[in-house]
Amino acid sequence: MLTKEDLAKYPFLKKASEYIESLNLSIDDFTDKYDDIVERALERVKFAIDGKLIKVDLYDPEKEILSYAVALALIYGLKDAWLIRRFANNEQKLYYEMLITEDNYKIIEIAKDGFNWDLELIEDNFIIPVEQFLEIAPRFQAREWKLINSLLDKGKVYLKKVKIARLISEAVKNKIIKKSEEEEIKRLKLPEKLLYKAEVVKSKIERKEIKEEYKEIYTPIKEDLPPCISYLIKEMKSGKAITHMARFTVTSFLLNIGMSVEEVLEYFRNVADFNENKTRYQIQHIAGMIGSKIRYLPPKCEVLKSFGICVEPNELCKKIKHPLQYYKIMRKKKNEKI
Ligand code: SF4
Repeated sequence: MLTKEDLAKYPFLKKASEYIESLNLSIDDFTDKYDDIVERALERVKFAIDGKLIKVDLYDPEKEILSYAVALALIYGLKDAWLIRRFANNEQKLYYEMLITEDNYKIIEIAKDGFNWDLELIEDNFIIPVEQFLEIAPRFQAREWKLINSLLDKGKVYLKKVKIARLISEAVKNKIIKKSEEEEIKRLKLPEKLLYKAEVVKSKIERKEIKEEYKEIYTPIKEDLPPCISYLIKEMKSGKAITHMARFTVTSFLLNIGMSVEEVLEYFRNVADFNENKTRYQIQHIAGMIGSKIRYLPPKCEVLKSFGICVEPNELCKKIKHPLQYYKIMRKKKNEKI
């Protein structure tokens, strides 16, 4: 059974929405009342901007449930595509971290309530109907997510806990982004007082963008990647072992465009000498989560050339000095077209 604490941990659940609806509140009600909830919602948005995972407060589950809904209203009301994606990405990471340590039977309930997925458990395998697996799995690039590489029996796919956690958390991310495209959400207007508070938080983005000149949050689009990185990813996918410098380059590049440690790890899975624990440790190190606590940038083009990693440079490569600069220009061009 899903408790109120579960709804506080996973406020994307339908039961959490039903609970909120039962209170019969609108966003206008948060203008002069419920300051603590608004503060918590703003905190959730700030954490997303900073790329940090908020700690769920189970002492006050109602506040957590309501503040999630208010945080969503704030990011939708600001109508900032970057912020929506950033928020969705951060929520995905938060739920993934919680789900991998969650009780197996609770995961089954969460999948049912959240997405109407019919999971079953056989020993330590979760089993999901193939059509439900395919709602999300095609979003992942790694070969292991392809149906052809999955254990499939009688129309059901077998998945370990880490993968089901990934699938559910990605479904939440997808839901947050998709919701922002609904007409009703596009028309959402925040009350002036809330809009002001949200704008103050949003101004943090501009500062952050200046500080983290190259950092991007969009899932990397193949055609936006510089040739050297595309080449390395292709080599890794085909199962070839790559040099230490090449590993460092591709890892630091992907981390700096906003991918999580687990997402980067997926790129290494096919590499000939893959060792999950060792690779995760190395990625965490480059991300600055352990060891020196420095988040590394990939080397400049000049250095990559000297290591033979600069392959098939194109016209744009002639104008840049750093692979992240290449990606930034490509993303900017795309955003201008939109
Ligand atoms: S010039 Fe720079 S970005 Fe372009 S392929 Fe070479 S190393 Fe990569």
